[in-house]
Amino acid sequence: MSPANIVVIGAGVAGLTTSLLLAKRRHHVTVIAKHMPGDYDIQYTSPWAGANFFPFSFENEPARKWERDTHPELWRLATQVPESGIHVQDARLYNAKGLETPGFMKDLMAEDPWFKNLVHGFRALDKDELPEGMASGTTFKSVCINTAVYLPYLLGQCRKYGVVLKRGVVKHIADARDMHVSGKKADVVVNCSGLMSCKLGGVEDAKLIPARGQIVVVRNEAPAMYTTNAVNEGDDEMMYIMMRAAGGGTILGGCYQKGNWSPEIDPNLANRIMKRCVEICPELTGGKGVEGLDIIRHGVGLRPWREGGARLESEVINGVKVVHNYGAAGWGYQASYGMSSDVVALVEDCLKPQAKL
Ligand SMILES: Cc1cc2nc3c(=O)[nH]c(=O)nc-3n(C[C@H](O)[C@H](O)[C@H](O)COP(=O)(O)OP(=O)(O)OC[C@H]3O[C@@H](n4cnc5c(N)ncnc54)[C@H](O)[C@@H]3O)c2cc1C
Repeated sequence: MSPANIVVIGAGVAGLTTSLLLAKRRHHVTVIAKHMPGDYDIQYTSPWAGANFFPFSFENEPARKWERDTHPELWRLATQVPESGIHVQDARLYNAKGLETPGFMKDLMAEDPWFKNLVHGFRALDKDELPEGMASGTTFKSVCINTAVYLPYLLGQCRKYGVVLKRGVVKHIADARDMHVSGKKADVVVNCSGLMSCKLGGVEDAKLIPARGQIVVVRNEAPAMYTTNAVNEGDDEMMYIMMRAAGGGTILGGCYQKGNWSPEIDPNLANRIMKRCVEICPELTGGKGVEGLDIIRHGVGLRPWREGGARLESEVINGVKVVHNYGAAGWGYQASYGMSSDVVALVEDCLKPQAKL
């Protein structure tokens, strides 16, 4: 395939991973983004993520494939590329006695899940390894991504392969065709604008809403990553702990509040998050309870949740060939390489002379 001129809108994990894979195929990629690694903004989800590999592919079957296709690369980065800011951690997942597991956690919390042979060292926990009140649990080795290191790492990889990155705000998606640094019209525009695809002219996807996540970042260290269904305060609250690589702090979460756009910290929710985390992992504060937490900051990010699942498809808008890659909700990192590989295939299909669009 001869190299094409491509404009990618967005510099989150979706835009950067897609740009990197396109550039490795020798395409000439210009990234146009309102926010770049280093920024913290409510319209920019990627910096706020934990992020780890805890499969959530309940959403639909392609999501499971994308997670399956991504795991080997994240594992390679964690074990062979320290500058990527990813490390391996033990994961411990606990099912509480007498509590229903919410639908979105069922795959993850199963004792015999689809991913048991994908991850390393999967096994059910023995009864004597469970904290009080837990009926069952599993453990495996997973990865945790320090997004403050990994996003700049991805950006650096993009530059190494010739991607040009520019700040810009695209009003209508068709305008991006004229934003390639070569001065020529782009052959294809790739839309990685995340949650803001619900506002981007020419896209305005009404199926896309935020799934709000609130976190507390602390200096305390955790011996493993944890999650449990033992959350009594409503269906949209969660409990998870993950320690980021390379001094990135430990993330305490969280919630999954669909339709909530608020960037404000809810202090009551923050207190519930910290209490739950210390209960499940008292080692966090050496037995000193919530008082022993050393808070770096609180944070809120909006996951791009889309009814029917993420959107990976091509279409023509005002005569411009467009490929979409957005809507990965709470699994944008752990599905990133799988999704971006499929996007590269869609882009190259569009470039074929007989492309049916
Ligand atoms: C609290 C929390 C925890 C999470 N934990 C995990 C986890 O453990 N594992 C995991 O895999 N995922 C996790 N996620 C989900 C993950 O963060 C998202 O799925 C992912 O970051 C989405 O990336 P994105 O590139 O699609 O969007 P974004 O990161 O939002 O990037 C969008 C980009 O598009 C740009 N843009 C938007 N509109 C325009 C425009 N009109 N013109 C120009 N540029 C524009 C923005 O400036 C930005 O550069 C978590 C999310 C949150 C909030």
